[in-house]
Amino acid sequence: MDQPKCIFCSIVQGELPSKSIYSDDQCIAFNDINPVANVHVLVIPREHVTYLTETTKQHEKLLGHLMRVAAKVSEQMGTSEDGYRVSVNQGVNAGQIVDHLHLHVLGGEQLNSL
Ligand code: AMP
Ligand code: ZN
Repeated sequence: MDQPKCIFCSIVQGELPSKSIYSDDQCIAFNDINPVANVHVLVIPREHVTYLTETTKQHEKLLGHLMRVAAKVSEQMGTSEDGYRVSVNQGVNAGQIVDHLHLHVLGGEQLNSL
């Protein structure tokens, strides 16, 4: 039986709508549909990478790029100066629900301390 299609791959392919914030040849960034902060943007690779734990040395450049895009997005959203958080939920205990690697960029207000 066919695997259900990954929703983030559908967004990359333009089959599902999203509020685009940033796009380049390696990744895209869009508003989270269910924001938990005034600014809540997801940065995702165009390539379907499932988990941070499954990345290899080959992904090092991409991972670095995603982090730099998170910083760029934060600048673009006006949260750079006041501060922001970049996080990855990995697996069940962290509450990962979408199995396509993504960075959450959170800001625009005082965030709870970890
Ligand atoms: P997690 O897997 O827990 O790190 O989080 C997945 C995130 O994706 C959640 O914050 C969801 O609100 C968000 N999300 C799920 N579907 C969509 C969608 N179609 N467009 C934008 N954000 C989404
Ligand atoms: Zn995917």
